[in-house]
Amino acid sequence: MSARILDGKAVAASIKEEIKAQVEALEGRKPGLAVIIVGENPASQVYVRNKVQSAEYVGMLSRKIELPEDVSEQRLLDEIAALNADGAIDGVLVQLPLPKHIDADKVLNAIDPAKDVDGFHPVNVSNLWLGRPCTIPCTPKGIMRLISESGINPAGKNAVVVGRSNIVGKPVAKLLLDANATVTIAHSRTPDLAAVTRGADILVVAVGKVAVVTGDMVKPGAVVIDVGMNRNAAGKLCGDVEFSTAAEVASAITPVPGGVGPMTIAMLMQNTLESYLSRQRTTV
Ligand code: NDP
Repeated sequence: MSARILDGKAVAASIKEEIKAQVEALEGRKPGLAVIIVGENPASQVYVRNKVQSAEYVGMLSRKIELPEDVSEQRLLDEIAALNADGAIDGVLVQLPLPKHIDADKVLNAIDPAKDVDGFHPVNVSNLWLGRPCTIPCTPKGIMRLISESGINPAGKNAVVVGRSNIVGKPVAKLLLDANATVTIAHSRTPDLAAVTRGADILVVAVGKVAVVTGDMVKPGAVVIDVGMNRNAAGKLCGDVEFSTAAEVASAITPVPGGVGPMTIAMLMQNTLESYLSRQRTTV
C-alpha cells in the first residue's frame, strides 16, 4: 500500500475539541440541536445516537424526538413547527430516509431555513448554487474540510464525483467547482465509468455499492474520497471503493470507517454552532 490515509476520525476529533472550547466559552444559553427520528431503521438509529452523543460531548443541548413508523405526516410537521418556534433550539434535523407514506420534500421544506443544519431546505440549496451564504450539507462540507486539512488544493485539478444525490453528489460537485476544480459528475447511466474515473485527480465516490470503484479505475497518484457506507458479504462496514487495490495506486485515500463519516458529524456540530451564532446576531 502506498497511499496516505486521510484520517477523518482524527481530524473530526480535533474539530470537535475546537467546537467544545467555543461552546464552553459562550455565556448564557448554549446551542441546541433537535434530531427527529421516525421508525426503527437500525442504521438511522446508529447515526442519530452518534449525532446526539456528539452534541452532548461538545456541550450543546440535544433533544432526540422519536416517532413511531406509522406516525402521520401532520404530526411530524407539527413537531417541526414546535421546534422552529423553540428559542432553545438552533438546529433541526430530520433523519432520512422517512417512511414511504411521508412526503420527505414537504418535511424538509417545513424546517426553518435558519435552523436547517443539514442544509437540505430549498433556500439553502439554491443559495449554495448561487454562491450566496448558506448552510452547507454536512457530508460535502466534511469532505472539503478533510481535503483542505490534508493540504490538498483542488484548484486546477480534474475532480470526478460518482453519484448525483442531493445529499452528497450534487453539493460536493458544486463545492469542488467553487474550489476551482474541473468537475465531472458520473452516475448509473455513465456508460464507461472506469474511463471517467481514470481521469480524476480527485475522485469522490458516493454510490452505496460495495467495490463500485476498484484500483484499476483509479489514476496513479489520485486522491480518493470514499463516502459509501455498506456492509460486505461478511457483514463488515465498508465503502464503495475497493480499499486494498485503490490504496496501491492512489496518493491518498479515506478509510471506511474512519474517513468521511466522522467528518459529517463534526460538520453537523459546526453547522449547529454557526446557526446559533447567526440566530444570536439576528435576535439581539
Ligand atoms: P443515493 O442512493 O441517493 O445516490 C446514489 C448515486 O449513485 C445515484 O446518483 C446513482 O445514480 C449512483 N449510482 C448507482 N449505481 C451506480 C453505478 N453502478 N455506477 C455509478 N453510479 C451509480 O445515495 P447517497 O448519495 O445518499 O449515498 C451514497 C452512499 O454514501 C451510501 O452508501 C450512503 O450510505 C453513504 N453516505 C455516507 C455518509 C457519511 O457520512 N459517510 C452520508 C451520506 C451518505 P442515478 O442517479 O443514476 O440513480
